[in-house]
Amino acid sequence: MNIEKRNLLRELGFWQEVAIVEDCRCPSCAERVDEDEFRNEVFMREFESSGLCQGCQDTVFGYKVAW
Ligand SMILES: [Zn+2]
Repeated sequence: MNIEKRNLLRELGFWQEVAIVEDCRCPSCAERVDEDEFRNEVFMREFESSGLCQGCQDTVFGYKVAW
């Protein structure tokens, strides 16, 4: 995770979650994230950006993105 992303998360009030992400846990559901669970590289890239697991990405983004 780069510095810019870290600062952004802190500004958004996710500072505590940053530590969780670095432990490969989803900041939303706190489940451990396995890279094998992602359906394609689009989700993988989002995980690298936000740390969200596949299930939470479905919940957060599914309604507005047609895959
Ligand atoms: Zn999750």
